[in-house]
Amino acid sequence: MDRDRDWFERDVLERFIRYARVHTTSDRHSMSNPSSAIQFDLARMLHEELEAIGLSDIYFDDRCFIIARLPGTGDKADAAPIGLMAHIDTAPDTSGEDVRPVVRKAYDGGAIDLGDGHTLDPEVYPTLTRYIGDTIITTDGRTLLGADDKAGIAEIMSAAAYLVEHPEIAHRPLELIFTPDEEIGRGMDGFPIHELKSPYCYTLDGSLEGTVEAECFTAYAARIELEGYVIHPGDARGRMANAVTMAGRFLSMLPGAESPEATDGRYGFYCPVEAHGDYGHATVDLILRDFEDSIVQRRIAALEVFARAVEAAHPGGKVTVTTRRQYLNMRDRLSERPEIMRSLEKAIRATGMEPVRHSIRGGTDGARLTELGVPTPNMFTGGQNFHGRYEWIPLSAMVRAIKTVVNLAQIVE
Ligand SMILES: [Zn+2]
Repeated sequence: MDRDRDWFERDVLERFIRYARVHTTSDRHSMSNPSSAIQFDLARMLHEELEAIGLSDIYFDDRCFIIARLPGTGDKADAAPIGLMAHIDTAPDTSGEDVRPVVRKAYDGGAIDLGDGHTLDPEVYPTLTRYIGDTIITTDGRTLLGADDKAGIAEIMSAAAYLVEHPEIAHRPLELIFTPDEEIGRGMDGFPIHELKSPYCYTLDGSLEGTVEAECFTAYAARIELEGYVIHPGDARGRMANAVTMAGRFLSMLPGAESPEATDGRYGFYCPVEAHGDYGHATVDLILRDFEDSIVQRRIAALEVFARAVEAAHPGGKVTVTTRRQYLNMRDRLSERPEIMRSLEKAIRATGMEPVRHSIRGGTDGARLTELGVPTPNMFTGGQNFHGRYEWIPLSAMVRAIKTVVNLAQIVE
């Protein structure tokens, strides 16, 4: 397949730049589905390109979900399909409008002046030095790049185009799945699961090449409502319960050692994400994360204890805690089906890399799909420094992701 490297490089680079230029930022404050209509601009482009590649069985709905089917070939034509999934939106944390990717050939190992006063420095991001001499793609310093997850989309599209052009490669049927709103945690809301034929899928939404992820956080959101007792401040002695003060007391009870700022690796956290209110009423939103559900449950129980303690300190005030599960660690479901990871690791080895298992300190759409009964681990795209202007991706890693997908399509366990 090495003689095809030029084809892969050209094809995936063109696609990636084309997709990265389309503004697809999702909007966490919007109630519509998808959260931003601009995501259709890329979805429509993908729909046309899927047809141009030669795929005719394409589901594309008004919520911006695409499932395109590539029939299997040769002696693998009748095997069960596998799904390959990537998300259309980019994170709202940094502007994704008017993205102008910069292709830098033969990277020399030095600090890169991105433009707009920003430098991508290998002293800060040492992964860069693994790609000296390689072509890398960066931002121009003004926006994010959107390698998360347009690299995943481009890699899936290139792999499909390659398989169509090479009917001599016997492969199982594939479903290419593109979804909106992953970055705001709503990517699986309304997902047309009945349209999906694959018993399991893979998301291409990871980072460093070679990494595979079969584990993510278990995630809950908590809302704390603090009800004060309002009376004129001049007459308040012994009577007022100030909801703002109560919120401050509540926040001060969160253990600092279990905050995102103080944890990494396998340690989870409480993280306040939003607070507002006045002395009559205040609201605090938190997220709770851990790899073990039992520890998240312990944190939920602790929130109740803090709520009672705040009430005790502020007679007349009332504190309520409501929690909502966002996604579950996919580890347990995936460990029931070891062949899913085995195939992926085999495909990575066939590409000439040693797979590296990694645990996601976050979640993916695959985690939610796994909960819906379709086990879906995550694999690398090659992209680095997601969600900001320092995002970059090496072309060689994208090619290895495509090759991994092409190899994966040929494995039937
Ligand atoms: Zn992503």
